[in-house]
Amino acid sequence: MGKTCTYTNSPDGDFIIDQHPEHQNIYLACGFSGHGFKFSSVVGEILCQLITEGKTKFDLNPFSLERFKKVADSAI
Ligand SMILES: Cc1cc2nc3c(=O)[nH]c(=O)nc-3n(C[C@H](O)[C@H](O)[C@H](O)COP(=O)(O)OP(=O)(O)OC[C@H]3O[C@@H](n4cnc5c(N)ncnc54)[C@H](O)[C@@H]3O)c2cc1C
Repeated sequence: MGKTCTYTNSPDGDFIIDQHPEHQNIYLACGFSGHGFKFSSVVGEILCQLITEGKTKFDLNPFSLERFKKVADSAI
C-alpha cells in the first residue's frame, strides 16, 4: 500500500538554521530538503548551544535566512 511522504525543501536545497527574525527567543531548524537525517545529531547540538549559551562554535552563515534576502534583493 502506498503512503504519502512529505518533506520540506528550502529554495536552494540547503538547511535553514537561524534565529526567528522577530522573536529572539525562537530558533528555526528546518528546510532539510531530503538530506537532513544524517545531520540530525549536529543540528541538535547546534540548537542546544544556541539555546543554552546564545552562541555556537559552528559557522551558521551558509544556513542563514539572510541568504534568501540577498537573492531577493539582487532580483529587483
Ligand atoms: C523519502 C525520504 C528519504 C530521505 N532520505 C534521507 C537520507 O538518505 N539521508 C538523510 O540524511 N536524510 C534523508 N531524508 C531527510 C530526513 O529524513 C529529514 O531531513 C529529517 O528527518 C528532517 O527532520 P525534522 O526533525 O525536521 O522533521 P521530521 O523528522 O519529519 O520530524 C518532525 C516530527 O514532528 C512531528 N510532528 C509534526 N507535526 C506535529 C504536531 N503538530 N505536533 C506534534 N508533533 C508533530 C512528526 O510526527 C515528526 O516526528 C529523507 C526524507 C525522506 C522523506
